[in-house]
Amino acid sequence: KRIYYLSLKDLPAVTVTGQEITLATNIGNPKDIDDALKYGGKGVGLFRTEFVFMGKKKMPTEEEQFEAYRYVVERSEGHLCVIRTMDIGGDKPLSYLDIGKEENPFLGWRAIRICLERTDIFLTQIKAILRASAYGKLAIMLPMIIGYEEVTAAKSLIKEAKSLLESQGQAYDKNIEVGIMIETPAAVIMSDELAQEMDFFSIGTNDLVQYTLAVDRGNQRISHLYDHFNPAVLRSIKTVIDGAHKYGKWVGVCGEMAGDPLATKLLVEMGIDELSMSGPSIPKIKEIIRKMDVEEKIVEEVLKQKEVKKIRQLLAGTVLANN
Ligand code: PEP
Ligand code: MG
Repeated sequence: KRIYYLSLKDLPAVTVTGQEITLATNIGNPKDIDDALKYGGKGVGLFRTEFVFMGKKKMPTEEEQFEAYRYVVERSEGHLCVIRTMDIGGDKPLSYLDIGKEENPFLGWRAIRICLERTDIFLTQIKAILRASAYGKLAIMLPMIIGYEEVTAAKSLIKEAKSLLESQGQAYDKNIEVGIMIETPAAVIMSDELAQEMDFFSIGTNDLVQYTLAVDRGNQRISHLYDHFNPAVLRSIKTVIDGAHKYGKWVGVCGEMAGDPLATKLLVEMGIDELSMSGPSIPKIKEIIRKMDVEEKIVEEVLKQKEVKKIRQLLAGTVLANN
């Protein structure tokens, strides 16, 4: 099996009928990139930049961040590298940033909410990303978006960062793509309007499941309720893909669901453009895509289902048929 997977490394993730999916990798530490691409991923679909901020005594400078982002993009073999702006808060605190005591950190001051108030932090990060974009193909991705005002505010700060760099004579990619993560029900519901503003979406199923179902993603007691095959989640994913495609924008999944072999056929049939996962998950997912019989449609049947168990059964049947 290992040898077989190695032989897949340089082959594209394309279905029998020619639908090609970008399989990318998720990374945390910049150094992860050294290992990540050996599984055949095409670039980085999610760089969790929190790791550049965590485990430090103070906020990383623009220069430190620039070095981290440049390191990753220079090793991405010319493929797109999606850099998510810091997703601090929730379960990821920083010793040097006082968030205060919160009853519900997952519903609290986190991610884009911090960035839009602490514009000094956001502008520093955006400038660092933009500078790194002179060294390869980068995209900026904003986490935890709930609405239109956030994307317009973030976009105007990105514009400000670009002017600052221009006045300093610093190079950057003027066509850099800016996208958002879809990880809240609000973003799903507003996906039509948001798609018109953004270059791409990436569905963060880890949080989307948590917020759609009101199930804490880390609580073992209720983990049986935490399921990305919940029909409410699947219908949300379909809405988001259709919303983006209506305006010609691409959509990925970068939550754990992207690496779940049981989800591959469904997501591909729904029209997903990119799946981003941990490196070791890539060969298996690629194998499924390359064997996928797209004649045998399942989306309609799956979306009709009302029970998670039925959905899992239906999907299990198709995966077995593929192997
Ligand atoms: C997600 O929420 O699905 C995601 C990819 O982001 P994180 O797991 O870092 O919250
Ligand atoms: Mg998330």
